[in-house]
Formats: sequence, C-alpha cells, structure tokens
Amino acid sequence: MLPTLDEIFEEFADLDREDQSQYLLELGDGLPSFPVDARTELNRVHGCQSQVWLITETDGTGGEAAFTIRADSDSNIVRGLIAILQAAFNSKTAQQILDYDILGVFQRLDLQQHISPQRRNGLRGMVERILLLAHRHLSDDGQGNSIASLVVHVDSCAVPAKFLPVPVQSLDGEQIRRQFPVLNRPLASGQLPVYLDSGASAQKPQVVIDKEREVEEQYFANAHRGTYQFGLRIDEEFEGARTAIARFLNAASDSSIVFTPGTTVGLNMIAFGWGRRHVQPGDEILTTVMEHHANFVPWQQLAKERGATLRLIPLTADGRLDLGQLDEVLNSRTKVIAITAMSNMLGTVNPVGEIVRRARQVGACVVVDGAQSVPHMTTDLQAIDADFLVFSGHKLYGPTGVGVLYGKPERLEEMDPIIFGGHMISEVRIEESTWSPAPAKFEAGTMPIVQAIALGEAVRWIQSIGLEAIHQHEQTLLKSTIERLKAVPGITIYGPELEHRGGIVSFRIEGIHPEDLAALLDQKGVFTRHGHHCTMPLHGHLGVSATTRVSLAAYNTQSDIEQLMQAIDFARRTLKKV
Ligand code: PMP
Repeated sequence: MLPTLDEIFEEFADLDREDQSQYLLELGDGLPSFPVDARTELNRVHGCQSQVWLITETDGTGGEAAFTIRADSDSNIVRGLIAILQAAFNSKTAQQILDYDILGVFQRLDLQQHISPQRRNGLRGMVERILLLAHRHLSDDGQGNSIASLVVHVDSCAVPAKFLPVPVQSLDGEQIRRQFPVLNRPLASGQLPVYLDSGASAQKPQVVIDKEREVEEQYFANAHRGTYQFGLRIDEEFEGARTAIARFLNAASDSSIVFTPGTTVGLNMIAFGWGRRHVQPGDEILTTVMEHHANFVPWQQLAKERGATLRLIPLTADGRLDLGQLDEVLNSRTKVIAITAMSNMLGTVNPVGEIVRRARQVGACVVVDGAQSVPHMTTDLQAIDADFLVFSGHKLYGPTGVGVLYGKPERLEEMDPIIFGGHMISEVRIEESTWSPAPAKFEAGTMPIVQAIALGEAVRWIQSIGLEAIHQHEQTLLKSTIERLKAVPGITIYGPELEHRGGIVSFRIEGIHPEDLAALLDQKGVFTRHGHHCTMPLHGHLGVSATTRVSLAAYNTQSDIEQLMQAIDFARRTLKKV
C-alpha cells in the first residue's frame, strides 16, 4: 500500500536529509509491480539516465474517469520519485491532473537536493508524459483538440532551476502543418503535397524562414569579426543559437557544440581528426551494417589507412542490434564504436546508452550518428554520455548547410582540426601555428552563419511544441502506417516492431519496383523516397537492391497516411497487381 502525499510530506518534514534519501529509496521498494509487456519503446520516457517506462490507466472514459499512473525504472531513486508522482496524481481526473500544482509538491519536498540534474530531466520527462496522456484523454473525448500535447517549459534544459509544468498548446497535426508554407501550396494538380520524406530533409516552419530573412535583411555581417553594430548583433545571435542547441541536447557546455556543414562532414571530422590520431595498426573499429554511408565509409577508409580492422555488431532477424553477441565483437582492441541512434532505413532505435556503458568497460570512444534521432526523440547528452554525436540542421526543420558536432570537452581537446584557416588559430608564425580551444578550433573560415542562427530558431520552435509531444504524435502515425501497410498484399516491411523504431518505414511490394511505385505515388502528390537510402551494406544484408521509404515528421497527419494508402492502391491497380 503506497503512502498518501500527506504521509510523504509528514515523513519528509520529520527526517534529516540523509534519512529523506533513504525514505525515497524505501518508497521505491514499495512500488506495485509493472506489467512486463508494457516495457516497450513506446512507453519509455526519454531524457532519463536510467530506463523508465510509464503508462496510465483509467477506470472509464470521459472527464470523470480517474487515472492510475503506473511506472517502473531500473533505478531505485527513480522508483521513489515514481511513488511520489503516483501519490500526487493517482485517483485524479485528467483535468485535475492538468490543473494540479506538481511543482509545488516538488518544492515542498525540496526534491532538488536529492536528485542530480540528469534525474531532474528524467522527472520532468515523466511529468510531461503524464500531462500529455491526461490531455490526450480529454481530447479523445472530444473535449479538446484532436491530438493534444503539453510542454514542460524549461528554458534551461542543462540544469533546470525549477520545474515549470505548464500546458502551452495543442499538437494538432493540421495546426502544425499550417505553419509550413511549402506544404500549403497546391501542386499543379490542385492538391496539397503529402510530404513523407522528412528522413531525407524536413520542411521548414515559417518562423525559421522568417529568421533567415530577418538576419539577411536587418543585420547580416560576418561572425566573430567586426565590433560594429551588425557584428555585435550577429555574434549574439550566432552564439545564442549555439546555447539553444546545447540546452536542447542537455550538453554540459556550449563550447562542446561545434557548427559543421552537416552530419557527413561532422563524422569525417571525427574519423580523421580524432581517429587518425588514436586508432593504431591492429586496433578495431566497431560499427553496424545498418549505418548510413556517412557513418560507414569514413571508418572503413580510416581502418584501411591505419591498418585497423572494421568489425560489425550482428543484427537480429528483425533488424535490431544483437547485444547478446556484443561480447564476440567488443574487446580491448576496440578503439571506436560508430553507431547510429536511429536507422534511416529500418527505423530501428538503438540502445545507445547501453552501448556507451559497454564501451566504457573497454575504454572505447563512442561516436553517435544522431541525424535521424535528434529531430524525433529527446537526446540527453549528459545521460547517454556518448563521446561524440553529430546531426544535420536540414532534418531538424532547419536549413541545409549547417549541422552540429558535439564532443565531450576532453575528446575535443584530443581531436585535431582537419580544416585550417581563419578564426581557428591561436597564433600563426612562419614555422608553426597553434589552435584556439574548441569550438573555434573546428570552425575555420566563415561559418554558415545565417543557417546556424536559423537552426537555433528551429530548435526553439521544436521546444515551443515539445519534442516529447512530437515524438508521441509521430509514433501514433507510425503505428497506423504500419498497420495499414501490413494489409497490402505482397508487402514486406523491413525493421522491428513499433516499440523498437521511430517514424520510418521501408518496404517492398512484390512485383512492383520501388522506383515505379515512387513515381506512381508522386502522380498522386505523395512524396516518398526509393532506392538504397545510402545504406548499401544494409540492403545487401537484406538481399534487396532498393526499397520505398516513408518517413514522418511533426506536420504529418492521419490524412497523409490515408492518401498514401489510396496512392498505393492506385499504383497496384495501374500496375495490375490487384
Ligand atoms: N546519417 C544518417 C542516419 C542519415 O539519415 C543521413 C542523411 N540521410 C546522414 C547521416 C547524412 O546526413 P547529411 O547528408 O546531412 O550529411
């Protein structure tokens, strides 16, 4: 029997700090059991260092239904926090949950002194999830918008000073879509485009386009050069974007965020700036067959150059990493593990935190390709503890030509620049030059200034909606996409079940070439990608040369999925496959 909130308050008031921590652990011990089959990716709360799963149950439908929060974690302290959330929220209706001053509870218990900043992020993630589910319950009952979301507004994600759970707006796919001009311009046929290729590049909301225009029209100048008014303003905006990105990723410091032209360049910078210096003949580089060429070819080339061996973590039949076989390929010779956080073909979400943990045991450096994961699920750099992580702006509702390379300070320190020139130097003499500290060391020449500033705006736009809400929205659409596709005769869908994947589905329909399918879908205004998606080793592994890929983003709606299905139907009839 869990204690009530009043009982918890009373106990806390009577105990000193150490005993309070002990009491928190005891609360965790008393947590009711959590269904094993609910430990899925869909129910996992992102942003937590430990694993946390959370679901809600109601004793009926409608506004009067009472909620029960059920959650579990592999951390005892987090289990204690769950017990507090249960005491606070259980038996309340959705509306009561939304109105409840949970921040007041945390303050009264002075929880901050018991938990680390990372755990605070996890706690925030749990509250966000509960509010989202409560809001969704109301919406499903027709008392709110169709798909609702809530954001726990924390301006500084790095070390949030306090928790501010406030419902700010609804995530209504249609409402989000209206913010993207390109999606609202009719095609020649008169219909609006159905854009299902965000895995290649996402579209930009008006605020991002406006920001680029604002810079160009109002104060453009080079960055870190002039101290006149434009120069100062551009520096402020450029560094402001860096700070926004650092907070978005919960990076320990802004100087760990290096602007690059994109994921591909970032990965090459790591392979040849860090790898060339640290990988020795006989060493091993561990990667996977599901990598994008950008995270495969640089390591393959580095291995050749350094006399190292490229090894692969085996995959399960459904396209996940087979961690059961990790010991076979990970050993003291492993210098680098280069891994994607989410496959751009299978959609598989890889357990990066677990890989990092295992890498630490052999002292390997972990390089994460976050191109597909960063736009769609929370990335908490302090929690996952990876050495490097890279991503591109254009998949994150931002411009092309800009991306980010994150490195732990000590890793950036031991990494050489591979591009030399202005701004990155400390001193240049005829015989020798020395470098500035990171990030300047890796930002030679004129940066994509306008694009970087607009990327900062894209991150603020995402935060104004809530990445957790976007993730939930995409997972809901993904579920229905997979369900509907499964009903198509002759279809093969690649990749794991829903709980192990993000919003990407690649498939083939027997007898229809992916290129023909994409062309016929295009005739119906449905934009998908076909080909090998820059994953030739993976396609080889699967024994196919090409697939059709549907990839989702915040602006997609259920109507997009309906139109996709109608277009597939059209293609099958046209190609006489019905
Ligand atoms: N990695 C992954 C997983 C990707 O999906 C992509 C883009 N398709 C890249 C790397 C390369 O990104 P960019 O082309 O922006 O350098």
